[in-house]
Amino acid sequence: MFLSIVIPVFNEEESLPILFGQIEKVCSEHSYEKEVIFVDDGSTDGSWNVIRSLAEQNPEVHAIRFRRNFGKAAGLEAGFKAATGQFIMTMDADLQDDPAEIPNFLAKLDEGFDLVSGWKKIRHDPWHKVYPSRVFNKMVSSLTGVHLHDHNCGMKCYRAEVAHSLPIFGERHRFLPVLAGSRGWRVTEVVVQHRKREFGHSKYGFSRFMKGFMDLLSVHFVTKYGQHPQHLLGVYGTFLFAFSFLFFLLSGCGIAAHRIYWNYFTDEAPAMWSQILNYVGFGVLFLSMVGMILGGTFFAVGLAAELLTAFHQAPTAENYDVAEKL
Ligand code: UDP
Ligand code: MG
Repeated sequence: MFLSIVIPVFNEEESLPILFGQIEKVCSEHSYEKEVIFVDDGSTDGSWNVIRSLAEQNPEVHAIRFRRNFGKAAGLEAGFKAATGQFIMTMDADLQDDPAEIPNFLAKLDEGFDLVSGWKKIRHDPWHKVYPSRVFNKMVSSLTGVHLHDHNCGMKCYRAEVAHSLPIFGERHRFLPVLAGSRGWRVTEVVVQHRKREFGHSKYGFSRFMKGFMDLLSVHFVTKYGQHPQHLLGVYGTFLFAFSFLFFLLSGCGIAAHRIYWNYFTDEAPAMWSQILNYVGFGVLFLSMVGMILGGTFFAVGLAAELLTAFHQAPTAENYDVAEKL
């Protein structure tokens, strides 16, 4: 068995030597053959120097340094590309994930799963991170049908085919189990011990939740309708257009009837109820025109999206720029 351990690093100089020691320990205890791939995501502290000296002393350490900070997703993508193992483990560099858990992940893969995601059941993070994250996980699980307690756990283990087939970009590292599940891979979770951050500080603030929510919508859309966007946009567009057109006709006829009746069929002044209906009719007429324009726009955007998917070539360019490799 050959295990690749991919570790995205952004300013974690103090943690790295300790982390590597812990990885060495568990791998030698279980006689895992391994490679450790550090991806330095544009660190501005001494992380790269630490990684370089680890790589010089240990032939199984490989490293990639980005030209600037491209984000954790790009780090994982570069790590997956470089990984040559049968199984790929990812973990954070900040010592919050415990390498001693690695055997539990591999045992789950052995049961026949393709992706095993960690579940930080007891989290050692501030409350303003823990509670929103619970809501986020519930939302992701119910919207996507991939039921995990902790989608964004840094510690995950993949069969190599899975990791190599996932389209990662943006900040989609939060949705790797969802993307894998949507392609039919078998996804499960395993409880992990979580540790307090000893050194440095978290790289994400509250904005992660807004961004995560936007990514959730786009991942949901792409996995569900990516191959046929018109099934969403066209269907709703047509429905909205037809519905609005019906109200357009109804309100138009109502307004015309009001005019004709009170102008030509009677000498009396228009009755109050008819005047009120007439004003309501103008309101509905206006709204129905807006609805028709929106419906038509949905339809047209859906058609354009169909064109893009029909002629879309998978992007070959990477989502990052490498400065050095070891
Ligand atoms: N990280 C990264 N690039 C970034 C931000 C974070 O490679 O732009 C790494 C970071 O060094 C750590 C992991 O991603 O190894 C998780 O980051 P962090 O611990 O800050 O996240 P949190 O634990 O607060 O969710
Ligand atoms: Mg952390």
